[in-house]
Amino acid sequence: MTNKEVKTKEELLIKINKLESKIAELEKSEFKISSWLANSPVCTKVLDLDFNLQYMSNAGVRALQIDDVSAFYGKPYPLSFFPDSFNIPMRDNLNRAKETGETIIQEGEIQDVKGNKLWFQATITPVHNKQGGIDHILVVSIDTSIRKRAEEALRLKNLVFDASIAANSIADIDGVITEVNDAFIQMWGSSNKDEVLGKRIVKFFQDQGEAAGIITSLGLTDKWEGNYIAKKKDGSTFLAYGFATSIKDENGTIVGYQSSVQDITERKEAEDSVRKLSTAVQQSPSLIAITDTEGKLEYVNPKFTELTGYSSTDVIGQKPSILKSGEQKDSFYKDLWQTVVSDKIWRGQFHNKKKNGELFWEAASISAILNESGEIINYIKIGEDITQQKINEEELNKALEKALESDRLKSAFLTNMSHEIRTPMNGILGFIDLLNEPSLSRIQIDQYSAIINKSSNRLLNTINDIIDISKIEAGEVVVSTTETSLNSELDELYSFHCAEAKMKGLSLFFEPSLSHEQATIFTDSHKLHGILTNLIKNAIKYTEKGSIEFGVSARSTTKLKADSEPDEVEFFVKDTGIGIPENRMKAIFNRFEQADIGDERAFEGSGLGLAISKAYVEMLGGEIFVESEEGIGSTFTFTIPYVKTEKNELGQKPENFVNGPASLENLNLLIVEDDDVSSELIEAMIKDTFRKITFAENGIEAIEICRNNPEINLVLMDVKMPKMNGYDATREIRKFNKNVLIIAQTAYALLGDKQEAIEAGCNDYISKPFNKKELLEIISKHLGAV
Ligand code: ADP
Repeated sequence: MTNKEVKTKEELLIKINKLESKIAELEKSEFKISSWLANSPVCTKVLDLDFNLQYMSNAGVRALQIDDVSAFYGKPYPLSFFPDSFNIPMRDNLNRAKETGETIIQEGEIQDVKGNKLWFQATITPVHNKQGGIDHILVVSIDTSIRKRAEEALRLKNLVFDASIAANSIADIDGVITEVNDAFIQMWGSSNKDEVLGKRIVKFFQDQGEAAGIITSLGLTDKWEGNYIAKKKDGSTFLAYGFATSIKDENGTIVGYQSSVQDITERKEAEDSVRKLSTAVQQSPSLIAITDTEGKLEYVNPKFTELTGYSSTDVIGQKPSILKSGEQKDSFYKDLWQTVVSDKIWRGQFHNKKKNGELFWEAASISAILNESGEIINYIKIGEDITQQKINEEELNKALEKALESDRLKSAFLTNMSHEIRTPMNGILGFIDLLNEPSLSRIQIDQYSAIINKSSNRLLNTINDIIDISKIEAGEVVVSTTETSLNSELDELYSFHCAEAKMKGLSLFFEPSLSHEQATIFTDSHKLHGILTNLIKNAIKYTEKGSIEFGVSARSTTKLKADSEPDEVEFFVKDTGIGIPENRMKAIFNRFEQADIGDERAFEGSGLGLAISKAYVEMLGGEIFVESEEGIGSTFTFTIPYVKTEKNELGQKPENFVNGPASLENLNLLIVEDDDVSSELIEAMIKDTFRKITFAENGIEAIEICRNNPEINLVLMDVKMPKMNGYDATREIRKFNKNVLIIAQTAYALLGDKQEAIEAGCNDYISKPFNKKELLEIISKHLGAV
């Protein structure tokens, strides 16, 4: 072996050693590499030139959450892992790297096999062999999700910071502004950010002391929120709401502050007005209810609860129909809904029912509440309790009706009276005038006198009716019961009206149906007489042909026992006359009302007779009815109580005229009368009848004359006189003369007069006008007792 050879061998050995140590090193480093690859967070993939996966490091397996990576080996990358959206750019980049031999960096987002999103950055590197060709492609990717998310979060944060409508700012530890958003600049009243940056935050407060206090408190609590008065660049101020926090570094040391501010002037105003409105609604004296669009109640105010008795809990969710009383028609509610759904205001009155069942009236308006887009979102009802108002209205209406009725009655009164007074007056005056004609025959004089007489009676009847109705209305009529024979009463009426009926060609019937015993009861005979007279007179008046029948029966109204004692007497007056229209049957009992309401008055009459009769019947404790058919006839029926034992409650009985002269010629008469015509009339009637006639003009004179002339044995005492009235004078005369016959004469013809006269001490009473026959009859009646 030559030196050269030895040297070569040594060199070779050295070389081998070196190689061995190199190999050992390499082995060592390969181990390091594979252990690095296994543990590295970097995801390493080795692809062949067809891009089939040859190797994937653990990080890749972990990142993509693959259970068995070997299943992917030999398969195309990334097709087997990821959807097309990712494949296309990756394959493009792989192709480009393979073709150009350059390293390409790709960023993107992928999903792991379970669908989670990951951000990555991949470096695609072609691996060159010694010959400069490319053997493999190395894809090394790292998971950038955390960084990406942080970046995204920061981006969003900035976005929120900038885009916020609140005025956002960041200040350093000294309170100097370092960042603001556009809203802040605007709120400050500027358009230039530089005008704001670098300024101390306290400058944006009206009260800088307050601002300093807030910053101090932030240092302690890290957070502050509240309202304060903010200041603008131009010095003007506004109400602001601020929210601030401190900014800390990793060590928890405060490094600055961030705040967010809003101008709440308008909001505050809106809140204030909402508060005012809701207080007004709460305290409103009106009933307020709000419903949703389906009409279900969402709100009722306290007044609603107070009036209806329904609490909010009772009614929320219910429909307002809970208040329906059923008094109003369905069409009423239909109309209401039609109005409000078409966004019109409905106004009307509800007759509603409270929780306790009581009814009440409510005047309400209902309207829709619209949102900003003009859509109906609610309905509101505002109502007033008008129950009392309704009652008042009703009363007013009644009063008005009454006033109108009075007015109507007044007109009817005037029309009737004018007619009823003028017609007979016309007759009286006309025929009196004719009586003056010199060439009148006896027959004519008699005829004229009869007409004058008839007209005078008609006039007198009218006047009597007026006085009676006035007394009734003034409540001055008293009931005075006496034992009365109904049979005699009806007999008398029959005899009295027989001739009148006959003259008209009518038949008058009365069949007594009660025994004398049954027919004797206690009642006010005067009033009974008045009622029957009126009904019979009417029957004759309103019947042209046929008959008139009247009668009485007694009966028991107690149905328990068939044989019960009678407790009611029923009278009837039936005619075959003109009848009464159905619609006037009630009215004819009213004052001045007649069945014929047209202008043509076919019958005379004041329209008072039935009103008086009805009042009398009711005073006696009975009722009056009519049944009638036009053209057929009418039947008037009335009842009075059947009373057998009542006492006569007439006052003190007159003293009997016990010691007087036996005949008229022996009488010395005193006429007490303030009216000359009346005293002259009496004198003319009886001047030849009596022995002596003296005159007095008033009560005082009468007393004097009686005292000084004890031979006076008859006084015709007028009642109404100046100085002293007839009753008082009678009382005085009775003090010294119990025997003188005193007959009161009144012009009132009122039913209570007789009783009053007798109570005053008069022996009897005669009402004006009277004729000679009537006067002498009444005087003779008392002479007979002597
Ligand atoms: P008058 O003075 O008009 O008769 P009344 O009060 O007695 O007044 O009667 C009222 C009205 O009733 C009369 O005007 C008449 O129209 C009607 N009437 C009364 N009685 C009869 C009757 N028997 N038949 C028909 N109508 C009658």
